[in-house]
Amino acid sequence: WNYHVTHFVTSAPDIRHLPADTGIEVAFAGRSNAGKSSALNTLTNQKSLARTSKTPGRTQLINLFQVAEGIRLVDLPGYGYAEVPEELKRKWQRALGEYLQMRDCLKGLVVLMDIRHPLKDLDQQMIQWAVESGIPVLVLLTKADKLASGARKSQLNMVREAALGFMGDVQVEMFSSLKKIGVDKLRLKLDRWFSE
Ligand code: GDP
Repeated sequence: WNYHVTHFVTSAPDIRHLPADTGIEVAFAGRSNAGKSSALNTLTNQKSLARTSKTPGRTQLINLFQVAEGIRLVDLPGYGYAEVPEELKRKWQRALGEYLQMRDCLKGLVVLMDIRHPLKDLDQQMIQWAVESGIPVLVLLTKADKLASGARKSQLNMVREAALGFMGDVQVEMFSSLKKIGVDKLRLKLDRWFSE
């Protein structure tokens, strides 16, 4: 698929307002600031498809982008803002879980984690939910350019080792929007998911 022609379709305030559950979706999830917007912009070669560096506490929307007819990328709200009230955090967690468990057209989940702080509780929860729903996962260790190559590789190995514990289809790769690391791996994976 040509991801460069991706365009914004719609925003949904919650999973009940998503468009019809048809076609194929791949969702992108991660803690806020993990580099999710940058990754989507890099993949699609667009400067501001997904908005980067969102203000904490801002209304969180699910953004849907269309690559081609019936082929969508879903930008899930970033989780883990310290400033968000507990009640709202719980509400969003429930919604994310429901989305992963109920959405039939969801064929893959990309989980983005800062390579320096991987596998936080909610990251693990997202992977767990996907695995339980039989959805394959691609973990991208973002901002890989921030580490020297030795440290980078040891983080990759550590997370790959940990990923085996999920007992599911979980692939782990390094990624950097800045240095364009892992972009082709992401594209290949999406191509596979979108052609099944
Ligand atoms: P989001 O909240 O997950 O959408 O994260 P953003 O894409 O907005 O990125 C958060 C911050 O990390 C911004 O300041 C980005 O410039 C920075 N960032 C994102 N990707 C990279 C990367 O590959 N390398 C480096 N060094 N910084 C990055």
